[in-house]
Amino acid sequence: MQLGVIDIGGTFVKYAAVDEEGAFLFHGSVPTEAAQGGEALVAKVQRLCDELMGKVQLDGISISSAGQIDNVNGRVVFATDTLPGYTGTELAQRISAHTGLPACMENDVNCTALGEYWKGAARGTRDFLCVTIGTGIGGALFLNGELYTGSHFSAGEIGHINLYPNGTPCTCGQRGCYEQYASSLALQRQVTEQFGEGWELKAYFEQVKAGNRDAVQLFEHWLDDLTTGLQTLVHLLNPELIVIGGGISAQGDFLQQAVLSSLENKIMPNHRQSLQIKMAEHDNKSNLLGAAKNFLDKSGME
Ligand SMILES: [Zn+2]
Repeated sequence: MQLGVIDIGGTFVKYAAVDEEGAFLFHGSVPTEAAQGGEALVAKVQRLCDELMGKVQLDGISISSAGQIDNVNGRVVFATDTLPGYTGTELAQRISAHTGLPACMENDVNCTALGEYWKGAARGTRDFLCVTIGTGIGGALFLNGELYTGSHFSAGEIGHINLYPNGTPCTCGQRGCYEQYASSLALQRQVTEQFGEGWELKAYFEQVKAGNRDAVQLFEHWLDDLTTGLQTLVHLLNPELIVIGGGISAQGDFLQQAVLSSLENKIMPNHRQSLQIKMAEHDNKSNLLGAAKNFLDKSGME
């Protein structure tokens, strides 16, 4: 079986052809150009499908997408202003009508979790959380061997756990949300405030690792916020593993160790005993792999 897989994010749309073993036959990416609106995005995805079908004989299309996704009907239940005019789009159905192929759709962080479960850091794990740290903080709950998406496809909005009542305003309309303090964007904002413009996170982390006192102090504050959110999740769900994805996972072992030792000090002994922290293994491609896995699981059930 060969599948076209597409990952729609706020900045880039990634697309690929993969086989049923998860091997990539082709992959590419184009800018999302989200400001052009939902209809332009549908047209873009249709063009990418045409391109994939011109290269590879496909048996189906599977989409990973930002936003809250009705994974039964392949519909965008809710998307923030990152993707204006996208809420309500019946994307799977429109892609299926355009290509003549079966199509399905799932939220992107859920796809990260599926991809890491299938081929990455969460192989063989029945209870884990996937936390993606980037512009915001995304979450996926993989419980008892399957994704848990809630009563209406919106579970796992970890980024909007309240961390500081009446704190910084958030894109969701509330104040003091976790992602306003513990996302990569929040860290970047704090770094810029303290050290001035022009400090990219990569260079900043080098300073932290080199032991620059001010850099370390800021890092420890950010880390404390990050693990205070995770503390709530661990006590609620008792996972055996937290997979950290998103751009920040490039910090690898350094961040893994830091998160684990900070979090261990905040959780009860029985939660601590079995908890592992791992960085996503396929950061750039786990959403695409997860989309493929989603299609295979769904077609297996039918
Ligand atoms: Zn929020």
